[in-house]
Amino acid sequence: KEELNIIQGALELRTKTVEDVLTPLTDCFMLTSEAVLDFNTMSEIMQSGYTRIPVFENLRSNIVDILFVKDLDLAFVDPDDCTHLKTITQFYKHPMHCVFNDTKLDAMLEEFKKGKSHLAIVQRVNNEGEGDPFYEVMGIVTLEDVIEEIIKSE
Ligand code: ATP
Ligand code: ATP
Repeated sequence: KEELNIIQGALELRTKTVEDVLTPLTDCFMLTSEAVLDFNTMSEIMQSGYTRIPVFENLRSNIVDILFVKDLDLAFVDPDDCTHLKTITQFYKHPMHCVFNDTKLDAMLEEFKKGKSHLAIVQRVNNEGEGDPFYEVMGIVTLEDVIEEIIKSE
C-alpha cells in the first residue's frame, strides 16, 4: 500500500544520509564564476531547467556561490549586455549552505525547514592518501531529494 511506503520512507529518514540521495558533482549543472551572461550561456541556463545553479571558481569542486535563476529576471539581464555572472552573484550574495555527507535525512529536513535555501552542498573529509585530510565536495542535495525519499514507492 502507498501509505505504508510513505511511512516506511519517513522512518528511513533517521537512518539514511544525504550521501544516499545527493546529486553527484559530476551530474551537477554548474557555471564558472568567469561566465559571461551572453545568449549562449543564458540559453544553457534556461535549457537546464534548474532554479539553483552552483557557481565554481577554477575547479568544479570549488563552489563559491549559488545562482538563483530568478535573479536573472529580477536584474533584467539582457544577453546583449554580456553581463558578467560575478556582477549578479556579488549583488545577491545568497548564503551557501554546506553539510557533511553523514548528515541524516531527518536532520537535513529540519535544516531545510529552518533555513532560507532548499539546496545544500555536501562535503566529506577526505583522509585517504598521503597528504593532510581535506574537505571534498561530493555533490548537492535539495529538499526535493529528501521528499523523494519519503514518497518513493518501491
Ligand atoms: P525547484 O523545483 O525548486 O524549482 P529545481 O527543479 O531546480 O528546483 P529541485 O526540485 O530542488 O530542483 O531538485 C530536483 C533534482 O535536481 C534533485 O535531485 C536535485 O538534486 C537536482 N538538482 C538541483 N539543482 C541541480 C543542478 N544545478 N544541477 C544538477 N542537478 C540539480
Ligand atoms: P522551493 O521552490 O523548492 O520551495 P524556495 O524558493 O522556497 O524553494 P529556495 O529557492 O531554496 O527556497 O530559497 C529561498 C528563496 O527565498 C531564495 O531565493 C532566497 O534568496 C529567498 N529568500 C530567502 N529569505 C528571504 C527573505 N527574507 N526575503 C525575500 N526572499 C528571501
